[in-house]
Amino acid sequence: MKRYLPFIAITLLAAVSAAFVIWAHLSRPEVFTSPGGSSAVAGKVCLIPIGEVPKADVAFAAAVLEADFGRDVVIADSLPLQEEYYYEERDQYSAAGFLKYVEANAPREAYRVVGLTAADITIRDLNFLFGMGRCPGRCAVMSTYRLGFYCSTEYRRRLRFAKLTVHEMGHTFGLLHCRRRTCIMKFAEGYVAVDFQRLAMCERCEEHFCGVAAVDREARRARLEAMLKKYGLWQEVGEAAGLTPPPAPADLTPEETEAG
Ligand SMILES: [Zn+2]
Ligand SMILES: [Zn+2]
Repeated sequence: MKRYLPFIAITLLAAVSAAFVIWAHLSRPEVFTSPGGSSAVAGKVCLIPIGEVPKADVAFAAAVLEADFGRDVVIADSLPLQEEYYYEERDQYSAAGFLKYVEANAPREAYRVVGLTAADITIRDLNFLFGMGRCPGRCAVMSTYRLGFYCSTEYRRRLRFAKLTVHEMGHTFGLLHCRRRTCIMKFAEGYVAVDFQRLAMCERCEEHFCGVAAVDREARRARLEAMLKKYGLWQEVGEAAGLTPPPAPADLTPEETEAG
């Protein structure tokens, strides 16, 4: 299977009423600067709010991205919501349109560029999307709109947010959807499935990610742990088990061990 063919990998999340819905260190997230300058973002992750996004969500996304890569995150000036990406009949925005929007505004020198919106996004016949990442590529877009649906606590919402972020970044490094049930790169159908996933990648996905992104596996796990503790999410994630790679294929059904 051609794992690296460029395509838009749709991400994590949900089936509601039989229809598919899709799913996206430690920080200086308070730095607000324009992505236009060159050296300011060189080698860094650039986070671009699209439309109005609560600063707490922007800061949290930045913290997760920093933990994921061990790189600084620069928060760019917001981009306005574009009506050309709006589906009036659905009252939603085009995820693919937003991804192109991010790519069109991505500083060339940035390591990764992530668009974050509080607007509801979707694509084609799906009910909605949590996020979408170019696979492989540099850019992704994430929506916070539905993260709090069917969710009783802010902790759970934040953990979903962290999962979305790690998932989308995985796509940008060429990771397709994984068949292992609890791997963060699994395509999750439904909110319950998202909550069931670990934040951890399975060993295969983690090895690929750490290799291509050139990050140290243990250091990355330590950064994620520190971030989770900082936000009071350590218990919500399941403590050490939440960052432990999901079971090997022998523990899964044959269907789930098929190459993805
Ligand atoms: Zn995905
Ligand atoms: Zn996996």
